[in-house]
Amino acid sequence: MARVGIGTDVHPVEKGRPCWVAGLHFPDDDGCAGHSDGDVAAHALCDALLSAGGLGDLGTVFGTGRPEWSGASGTALLAEVRRLLLEYGLVVGNAAVQVVGNRPRLGPRRAEAQAVLSAVLGAPVSVSATTTDGLGFAGRGEGIAATATALVAPAR
Ligand code: MG
Repeated sequence: MARVGIGTDVHPVEKGRPCWVAGLHFPDDDGCAGHSDGDVAAHALCDALLSAGGLGDLGTVFGTGRPEWSGASGTALLAEVRRLLLEYGLVVGNAAVQVVGNRPRLGPRRAEAQAVLSAVLGAPVSVSATTTDGLGFAGRGEGIAATATALVAPAR
């Protein structure tokens, strides 16, 4: 039986930080603070995949017990989650992530982001983006949020 999962992530934007979102580098934008590259889209996808597999979340899988992952890129984390799922006999069916924020502008690079993330997971990944019409932390440009869903199924 296929299983669905959900994941959310939020990071504060920090001036001068490299901006990584959905596996892509945006050289003209400020990125997110955090131990890793701050890729909220990749992190939300990781949580959705782990949720679908019943394997916990980013904190339990890559937390203090595995310090070697503390600085890992979002795509490296996703690749490890894919490997972990396979260890439990699960493959990714598909996944979707929506980024909430003013910057970076994902629309023009949507196809590129989807190609990168789909290649990492070996399954179709849909990327979308929205703003909050100026409301809240995302609207003020103080942070970026992402929500993801994922479907996993037993490997044949
Ligand atoms: Mg995160």
